[in-house]
Amino acid sequence: AKPIVAIVGRPNVGKSTLFNRIAGSRIAIVEDKPGVTRDRIYKDAVWLDKEFTLVDTGGIEFRDDKGSMSDLILQQARLAIEEAEVILFVVDARSGLTATDEEVARMLRNTKKPVILVANKVEDFTGNMDVYDFYRLGLGDPIMVSASHGLNVGDLLDEVVKHL
Ligand code: GDP
Ligand code: MG
Repeated sequence: AKPIVAIVGRPNVGKSTLFNRIAGSRIAIVEDKPGVTRDRIYKDAVWLDKEFTLVDTGGIEFRDDKGSMSDLILQQARLAIEEAEVILFVVDARSGLTATDEEVARMLRNTKKPVILVANKVEDFTGNMDVYDFYRLGLGDPIMVSASHGLNVGDLLDEVVKHL
């Protein structure tokens, strides 16, 4: 089996957009509003001759109403820690850091697996984005990308395949 690269993060940060961008397809549903129930989506991808299976974990955040939203996101992160070789933790540079981001980060800091912090929705690289907050997550330097515009996604993938 190919190594798994899992995309985790709270709803609406752009996980599915990033998935589609990397997988070169539009199989993950991109929603303006969070909360649509979908399954986990897997797609094989390749970068610099390295093959991996990409997972969009966003789909089941709202599968049932037993847990709170952040419980379900944390569950996704836990699953990613178990099954993935590399974890992409996506945050939204436009909305800034949230309490849920901090909870997910706390969990991800406890794994020895490589976690790449991805600050998405950066279309303007002139330094106006308030991404310095994200250093507080204790997961290293965020890689700034725009999933929807394809900006810096190649740099992100270079980083991913270093760990494969
Ligand atoms: P998910 O819930 O984390 O899977 O997020 P989606 O991929 O469904 O995207 C949520 C919203 O953010 C949609 O309206 C996307 O069009 C938007 N979005 C995703 N990536 C970007 C980006 O790089 N820049 C901007 N400006 N918007 C984005
Ligand atoms: Mg999604």
